[in-house]
Amino acid sequence: MSQVMVDVHGVHKSFGPLQVLRGVDLQVRAGEVTVILGPSGSGKSTLLRTINHLEKVDRGWIGVDGELIGYRRSGGKLYELKEKDVLAQRTRIGFVFQNFHLFPHLTVLDNLVEAPVSALRRPRKEAEAAARLLLTRVGLADKAGAYPRQLSGGQQQRVAIARALAVEPKVLLFDEPTSALDPELVGEVLDVIKDLARTGTTMIVVSHEIGFAREVADTVVFMDGGVVVEQGPPEAVLDAPRQERTRAFLSKVL
Ligand code: ADP
Ligand code: MG
Repeated sequence: MSQVMVDVHGVHKSFGPLQVLRGVDLQVRAGEVTVILGPSGSGKSTLLRTINHLEKVDRGWIGVDGELIGYRRSGGKLYELKEKDVLAQRTRIGFVFQNFHLFPHLTVLDNLVEAPVSALRRPRKEAEAAARLLLTRVGLADKAGAYPRQLSGGQQQRVAIARALAVEPKVLLFDEPTSALDPELVGEVLDVIKDLARTGTTMIVVSHEIGFAREVADTVVFMDGGVVVEQGPPEAVLDAPRQERTRAFLSKVL
């Protein structure tokens, strides 16, 4: 078995009185794809955001590639990392948002080059060459000079995926990457993610695309009420769910 790349351990998170994560445990192995399903408000986005420390956890811990996220351990105690160390960690954890979040004032190429040059201190020439290869990979080599507003939603999301890859992340997190797209544009984005899965990119994908989960996921995780209710291979969770809550959810989305 390959090593554990993402290790979520007993994570709790509240916003004021609202308990959003109530003890989440999740392990993702290197090269595997985990698809997270669950009703709106079940804590899926919050979980992804804790993995790259956009949200601080209240209890528990998260490791990525053996490194504690947001903290360092010393003498049995946890100390929060400095902002610059948090940013360095976050750089290696790619995040693809529902609404693309491209820099609107930068060309497609510059969107991809920005982080490698400013955060990783790569020479610009080298970053541009790598960016052009990534654009070819997502089928947008001819759009390097375009601005995000000149692209369709599906193209923008493919650029966002290429941008996330540009820092050679240890893991890619996707938060409903096709939810903001017109139906006819969903396929082109899922195809890019499928291609990444084939080449062994470690990914956690929050998605309601059940067919995609069935085809691509190594593990399907069903979340409800801030906990993992059930997880396993797609054929187990999707076709023979053991928990009533999973069955009820699937009966609504299938
Ligand atoms: P999901 O992605 O599964 O729909 P979220 O993780 O976005 O769920 O949200 C879970 C709950 O936490 C929701 O009730 C949401 O309103 C609440 N929530 C999320 N982020 C915040 C925040 N920054 N402040 C207050 N409440 C939040
Ligand atoms: Mg969400």
